[in-house]
Amino acid sequence: MALVNEQFLKLSESYLFSEITKKVNAFKVIHPEAKVIRLGIGDVTLPLPEAVIDALHKAVDEMSVSETFKGYGPEQGYRFLIDTIIKHDYETRGISLDPDEVFINDGAKSDTGNIGDILSKDNRIAVTDPVYPVYIDSNVMGCRAGEKNEDGRWSNIVYIPCNAENHFIPELPEIRPDVIYLCYPNNPTGTALSKKELKKWVNYAISNNILILFDAAYEAFIQEEDVPHSIYEIKGAKQVAIEFRSFSKTAGFTGLRCGYTVVPKELKAFNFAGDKISLNRLWNRRQSTKFNGTAYIVQRAAEAIYTPEGKVQTKVRINYYMRNAKLLHDNLKSIGLEVFGGVNAPYIWVKAPKGITSWKFFDRLLFERHIIGTPGVGFGPSGEGYLRLTAFGKYEDTFEAIERLKNWKI
Ligand code: PLP
Repeated sequence: MALVNEQFLKLSESYLFSEITKKVNAFKVIHPEAKVIRLGIGDVTLPLPEAVIDALHKAVDEMSVSETFKGYGPEQGYRFLIDTIIKHDYETRGISLDPDEVFINDGAKSDTGNIGDILSKDNRIAVTDPVYPVYIDSNVMGCRAGEKNEDGRWSNIVYIPCNAENHFIPELPEIRPDVIYLCYPNNPTGTALSKKELKKWVNYAISNNILILFDAAYEAFIQEEDVPHSIYEIKGAKQVAIEFRSFSKTAGFTGLRCGYTVVPKELKAFNFAGDKISLNRLWNRRQSTKFNGTAYIVQRAAEAIYTPEGKVQTKVRINYYMRNAKLLHDNLKSIGLEVFGGVNAPYIWVKAPKGITSWKFFDRLLFERHIIGTPGVGFGPSGEGYLRLTAFGKYEDTFEAIERLKNWKI
């Protein structure tokens, strides 16, 4: 008889979004005529840039004739895309990378979830709280989380609270972790870290032999000068950090699927004997075994984002979403709510009025204004008392949401 991985049994069902669906369905039964505005789930609404569509058509045509047909590609990705990424995303910021330090994937969720394959289950993990749930759940699956406490925290995970009290700037933890996930600009809080703050973390990691897993899925939304786009802008970061990037939100690839991970060659971790082992070598081994590459046509589509037209069309989309973000941010503030994020990220993190929980705030927004948000507590204990709104909606819907909120007595 086969035995299951018992770790999976410790995970609760994806409670957050199923609970939201349940509540929205119940609301619709009572108010079938209501037009509900969805500002909950972080998916894009604008179609792919024209340059991407053209590249897809061209690549599909190539696949139709034997001279240009492509079968299996390199597991690590095609050089045309890797070289383009290095040139545009890194060399422009003074960062040099070798082509074999960049691994093309089918989106950041896969690699942020799978990176644990190359790490011992004996590592102590730290996360900022609230947090993108994949970091926690994948560590539960990988036997690193321990047991779930009554307060919703896992016994072996170090939680670093990020809230209005500390201005969403994570403090160095009292207990030294082996691995820390940092996501900046942040989902769900929409806040960013300055270069000085990120430097603090890189220096801490260098001094304490800590691995940083840096998720920069929202890098393209950064507006402020002082916010680093890559962790490798910080001196010494290549010794301690893996960086994850995604084309999902940058260029509307949530359905097409493409991203990449940077694993520098100078990044090392220890084996039990105390030898330093290259994580680049291990990740390459992992990918060659378990991943057969991202589709050729999708990699050609991703390459098109970096053409002059692709850059302009991508920027138009980002500006569109950031206009929504500003609209939400400024108007929520003007009705007396405490609002965070929305400046360097497409998420708005709203503090519920005093004494109101995340779920109560969610209910009131749904029942009184017919708007769907995401309760902050769904992202971790420190998210209690907050609600996340996304800027990824259509402008007209976001505008209407603002109109509905104008005279809201909260
Ligand atoms: N990382 C963060 C912080 C995210 O919010 C998301 C998606 O919402 C992802 C990674 C995954 O993105 P994808 O797999 O679409 O590249």
